[in-house]
Amino acid sequence: MEKENQGFFLQIEIRKFIDNPNPRSPDMSNIEYQFTEDFAKSMDTKDPLGSFRAEFLFPKVDGKEAIYFCGNSLGLQPKSTKNYIEKELGNWANLAVDGHFHGEDAWYHIRKKSKPALAAILGAHEHEVVAMNNLSSNLHFLMVSFYQPTKTKFKIITEAGAFPSDMYMLETQVKFHGLNPAEAIIEIGPRKGEHTIRTEDFVKAIEENKDHLALVMMAGLQYYTGQVFDMEAITAAGHNAGANVGFDLAHAAGNVPMKLHDWGVDFATWCSYKYMNSGPGNISGIFVHERHAESPELPRFAGWWGHDEGERFKMEKGFIPMYGADGWQLANSNVLALAAHQASLDIFMRAGMNKLREKSELLTGYLEFLIREISGSSGVLEIITPKEPKERGCQLSLLIHKGGKEVFDEFYKNGIVGDWRHPNVIRLAPTPLYNSFLDVYRFARILEQSLKKFA
Ligand SMILES: *Cc1c(COP(=O)(O)O)cnc(C)c1O
Repeated sequence: MEKENQGFFLQIEIRKFIDNPNPRSPDMSNIEYQFTEDFAKSMDTKDPLGSFRAEFLFPKVDGKEAIYFCGNSLGLQPKSTKNYIEKELGNWANLAVDGHFHGEDAWYHIRKKSKPALAAILGAHEHEVVAMNNLSSNLHFLMVSFYQPTKTKFKIITEAGAFPSDMYMLETQVKFHGLNPAEAIIEIGPRKGEHTIRTEDFVKAIEENKDHLALVMMAGLQYYTGQVFDMEAITAAGHNAGANVGFDLAHAAGNVPMKLHDWGVDFATWCSYKYMNSGPGNISGIFVHERHAESPELPRFAGWWGHDEGERFKMEKGFIPMYGADGWQLANSNVLALAAHQASLDIFMRAGMNKLREKSELLTGYLEFLIREISGSSGVLEIITPKEPKERGCQLSLLIHKGGKEVFDEFYKNGIVGDWRHPNVIRLAPTPLYNSFLDVYRFARILEQSLKKFA
């Protein structure tokens, strides 16, 4: 009964999320931010997600609990993670090889457990997602299926300044097909004097290259600037040009609501250790749209875990892919990795994506408000992340004009963990699961002090 209820509740949460990924409760939309501790505390008191903070372990800087704004790089450890992993260690100890098929949660089917939460987070159907491999490996495997250049259609459109793994992936994939990266890869960057990239510029480039375009492959949320791209519009433009469209959602998954299925995105991959709090280097996942669920003509590099589950142990020749994303799996599920992943996904499902997004907009809005209040005309820094909430997640990127890395070091000395990106950007990501309005307020007081040194 208990289990059934949970399943039911989960379905409702997923429906609510997919139908309406970005609602605003009326009482939250008219908040007037104030630069006072009382205001921050009152926001925390009203916060329906406030209790989740206590479920996470915070690092210390100089013996004091840090103000942790680095969930964009490595999400914090849920206190429950240890139990989830210990449970699997126990199964391994007590059941050994029988653990594959026996006990509650037999490992043979363990991948299924993460599907409801992943589907909700990505805006997908369960058969469109599966947790597997690492992000960079998944990018390569997905390219095998979705980048099939021909003599005329071989070009790829991507964002300029992409994450290095993505650049190396594209460059080496193109070379693997005997093509020249300089001819095949088209990078779309910001216009002169701007920091973020306009959707219309992607769409225009896609239309202009229509005859030669094979693929649009880019970030959903840009790691450096924090910009969320209009994935729906870009997907539509790509499909109009007869190209496949895929996204790297490393910084989007668990951060911004998405509707990958409805948008018609062909494929996507992400990592679980950033906003999904699943532990350093932990398992990635892929999305493959339903329309490719049964496409035997799509080439792929297969492994036994993608083979028809019922037939797998016949150990026979002739690869028969499983339906949907599962058919892209290669290897045995990584049980310990999935255990840590599940600890976090269960928290996500309890919190609910609607509420997370709602708080995220308020929290990042507050950070933005305070930074503008304080830095005003000092000329020390500038926020380069878009102002419009739908064009950003929780991260704000600050371009440092004076003081360079010293500004960042000053933050760290005062217990703020953010991250520094060469040549001059500080990224700060207050996350709605474990950060509070008081964290943001405290950061602002430290910023105020620091600016006195550099202005
Ligand atoms: C974090 C990140 C990666 C990291 O890839 P791994 O394979 O998980 O090491 C790749 N691409 C982007 C866009 C990222 O933000």
